[in-house]
Amino acid sequence: MLKPTPTFEHQLNFETQQYLAKGCRWFSVLSFVLALVIFFSKLYNNPESNWVFTTFSILPLACVSFYGALNNFLHARNYKIDNFNRYYRFIFALILCWFTVCNMLLLEAISAQSRIEAILHLLIFSLSVALFPKRNIFLFSVALLAGYMTISRAFNSEELFFPIVKMMCFVGVVISGQRVMEKWFRRAVFKDVENQRLLEELNQLALTDGLTKLSNRRHFDLMLKQEIQHSERTAAPMSIILMDIDYFKKLNDHLGHQKGDECLIKLARLLKQQIKRPRDVCARYGGEEFIVLLPETDLSGAVDVANNIKIQLNQLALKHPDSLVSEFITVSQGVAQWHSGMTVEQLVKQADDKLYEVKTNSRNNIAYAL
Ligand code: GH3
Ligand code: MG
Ligand code: MG
Repeated sequence: MLKPTPTFEHQLNFETQQYLAKGCRWFSVLSFVLALVIFFSKLYNNPESNWVFTTFSILPLACVSFYGALNNFLHARNYKIDNFNRYYRFIFALILCWFTVCNMLLLEAISAQSRIEAILHLLIFSLSVALFPKRNIFLFSVALLAGYMTISRAFNSEELFFPIVKMMCFVGVVISGQRVMEKWFRRAVFKDVENQRLLEELNQLALTDGLTKLSNRRHFDLMLKQEIQHSERTAAPMSIILMDIDYFKKLNDHLGHQKGDECLIKLARLLKQQIKRPRDVCARYGGEEFIVLLPETDLSGAVDVANNIKIQLNQLALKHPDSLVSEFITVSQGVAQWHSGMTVEQLVKQADDKLYEVKTNSRNNIAYAL
C-alpha cells in the first residue's frame, strides 16, 4: 500500500468523513425504523401486555435513533461530521435494539425485577453510546451502571462479579470494535482516493504528449475552442502560431531518430520557457509541428513571440548537419489572428497557409495573415 503524503493524509481524512456522513445517514434511518417496528410489533402481538412498560422500554431507543438520523441528515448534507464516533455510536444503537428484542422475549417468564433491570441497563447503554460523542462520558455512564448493578446484586445477594465482568467485556468490545471499524473504513476510503488519483492521472495522460510532455493536439483543440468562445464574448484579441522544423527528415536520416527525439524535447522546453502567461498553451500538433495559443494577444504581439522563439532557438544552437538554411535547427512559423466568426478550423488553416508560404519561399522565417 502507498505511504500517504501529508496532503494525501488530509484528503484521506476528508474523504473518510464524507463516507461516514453517508453511512451514518442510512444507518440511523435503519435503526430508527427498526426501533419503531419493535415498538409496534410488541404492542400488536401482546395487546394485553403492559403497554406503558413497553412504551417506556422501546420509545427512548426510537427517540435516540431519530435524534441520530436527524443529526446525521443535517450534518451529512454539508459533510461536516468530524469524528468517526458518530457513526460507530449508531451501529451500536442498532445492536442494542436487537439486544432489547432478545431480552424482552427471553425475560417474559422471568421476574419483573430482572426485566426492569435488563431494560434499564440497555437504555442507559443506548443513551450513553448514542447521545454522547465523548468516549469518557460513555465510560463514565458505564461505570455508573456497573456500580448500580453491583449494589443491587449485593442487596439481592446474587452473583457480584458477573455484572462487573460483563461491563468490562462491553467496554472492551466498544473500544476495540471502534478501532477495527475505523481501520476498515480508512482502507476502503484509501482505495477510493487512489482510484480517483489514477483517474486524474489517466485524464492527464490523455491530454499530454508522451515525448515532449507538452499538451497534445486534442488538448490544444479543446483549449482553442474555449478561447474562441471567450473571445467571441469579450471581443478580446487572440492569435496562434503554427511552426514546423525545417528539414527534420534530413536530421533524422543523418543523426538517427534518437537524436531527432532529443531535438524535439529541447525545442519543447524552449517553447515552454517562452510561453509564460497562465492561459497560453503550447502543444505538439504533429510529428515535428508545434502550435502556440496566445489569448489576449493581437497579431503584432504574436509576431513578437514568434520572433523571440526564432532568436532563442538560434541561441540554443542545436546542430543540424544537413540543413540547407542554417548550421543549426530552425523552424518556419505561420501566425494568424482570430477574428469574430472564425472557427477553429478556419483559424488553424490560415496559420497553416502562412507556414506553407514560408516553407515554399524561404524556411527559417515567419509569415502572418493580415
Ligand atoms: P520541411 O522543412 O519541409 O518541413 O522538411 P521536413 O523534413 O521537416 O518535413 P517532413 O514533414 O517531410 O518530415 C517530417 C519528419 O519528421 C518525418 C519524420 O521522420 C519526422 N518525425 C515525425 N515525428 C517524429 C518523432 O517523434 N521523432 C523523430 N525523431 N522524428 C519524427
Ligand atoms: Mg512537417
Ligand atoms: Mg518539417
